[in-house]
Amino acid sequence: MVLEALGSRIAGALRSMSAKTVMDEETLDEALKEIARALLEADVNVKQVSLLRRNIKAAVRWSELPPGANKRRIVQKAVFDELCRMLDPGEPPLSPERQRANVVMFVGLQGNGKTTTCVKVAYYYKRRGYRTCLVCADTFRAGAFDQLRQNAAKVRVPFYGSYESTDAVQVARDGVEMFRQQAMEVIVVDTSGRHKQEAALFEEMAQLEAAVQPDHIVFVMDGSMGQAAYDQALAFRQRVRVGSVILTKMDGHARGGGALSAVAATHAPVVFLGTGEHMDELEAFRVESFVGRLLGMGDVQGLVKTITESNLQNPDEEQMQRLSQGVFTLRDMQLMYGNLTRLGPLSQVMSMMPGMAEMIPQGSDRETQARIQRIMVMLDSLTAAELDQTPSIKWDESRKRRIARGSGRSLAEVEEVLAQYRTVSKVWGRMGKNMKNMAHGMPAG
Ligand code: GDP
Repeated sequence: MVLEALGSRIAGALRSMSAKTVMDEETLDEALKEIARALLEADVNVKQVSLLRRNIKAAVRWSELPPGANKRRIVQKAVFDELCRMLDPGEPPLSPERQRANVVMFVGLQGNGKTTTCVKVAYYYKRRGYRTCLVCADTFRAGAFDQLRQNAAKVRVPFYGSYESTDAVQVARDGVEMFRQQAMEVIVVDTSGRHKQEAALFEEMAQLEAAVQPDHIVFVMDGSMGQAAYDQALAFRQRVRVGSVILTKMDGHARGGGALSAVAATHAPVVFLGTGEHMDELEAFRVESFVGRLLGMGDVQGLVKTITESNLQNPDEEQMQRLSQGVFTLRDMQLMYGNLTRLGPLSQVMSMMPGMAEMIPQGSDRETQARIQRIMVMLDSLTAAELDQTPSIKWDESRKRRIARGSGRSLAEVEEVLAQYRTVSKVWGRMGKNMKNMAHGMPAG
């Protein structure tokens, strides 16, 4: 996704800053200018960019830095913190309480993925043991009722709506009341998509808020939306009490900047990212992980969480300990490939795991599966020492030939897998360093 391009430009600006022989305030200004340019091109609102730039400069306090200070790290940490701050306004996110009706109303622009996201969110909480349900208060768009009903049925979530009624407020009120009586815990209310120019629909949205008294209002926005995002988000915020933002279509060509601007406009945190059309393609949003990924620092915590939540074969304590220090072995590669297909959308996993892009062969899903299968067979023919002490093994010709013979593959293929391993393990090595530095409050590069 294009968001990665933003990240690599920011990382690039930091790298070229530290490559300079003399690092003075001018070098910092240059790097900040490049970062600002990258953010503007990614559609972040101008005001936000200049604020970010000012804050970074204030946080770094260049002239007061002692001569031996690691300036690149200090700047990187300031950039990291500022991006986090921009994405996390400090408001409490959507967090439904158990054993009471939490009414969550969804608002947004038409076509941005609101209806799909309503079902995803209902399903997300259903899987976590909440009694969830959906109310269709979109009486404006033909087809909204059927779309929501069908998707609700797919994920087996109770649904309320009306085919005939054009009174969205009444339908919403009736639906919420009915589900309250049924002791539902998360009542998701879908509303019509609207633009700020549509005064009547904006008025209806305010009436809906008054009628159903939502505990929480979620603003759904297409992550690839450009500069218009700021104004639209602001218009929604001015009319109803937006509490959270969900960015959709983050699997596509999201430049991300519009999204950053929407967060700034609504002062509401991003809570989820939509990453596909399927009902389970919803990722809980964690700001540090997101910014870490954006800056190419990877997302070990996110990955570990995905692994734990996916009921997969988990790395054991010792393996976790080692991985968090950046030591990666063929055993880890074996475990990851084994889990890969069960983890969910590959693109999602890939963005969390540094080096993963190098591990997944290019091609159609079926070809990819077949290649992964072959690699698994090859890894199965390794000895325990080769799997567990990979870095200290001597990978000579005769060893590689033995593996090729044992797995019925060619020597070149064995070498290719080992080359992949080396690439990934290098990335993990760097990550390990980052993690250590993060633990001491300072991201490294
Ligand atoms: P609404 O008008 O805002 O309710 O939008 P819909 O929920 O009907 O979604 C519009 C289109 O976007 C549909 O084709 C959805 O399948 C698609 N869509 C929604 N969320 C995502 C997402 O996260 N990723 C992708 N790729 N498509 C999405």
